[in-house]
Amino acid sequence: MSNCYCGLTKPYDACCGKVHQDIMNAATAEDLMRSRYSAFVLAKGDYLMKSHYSATRPSSKEKKSIIQ
Ligand SMILES: [Zn+2]
Repeated sequence: MSNCYCGLTKPYDACCGKVHQDIMNAATAEDLMRSRYSAFVLAKGDYLMKSHYSATRPSSKEKKSIIQ
């Protein structure tokens, strides 16, 4: 069993992969935050730019913890 890049114990395809395909699949701010972390790991610059303009984008404090 492989974990998603965000750390959840489910496959990427069933987790952040769905959100990367369609940002509307992010049901909560936490989903979006996790998908942004996975995008960071995968160097998905396009996704990071796109999600940056989402209404539920992480606060600057959360962003700092993602980068670490
Ligand atoms: Zn994930």
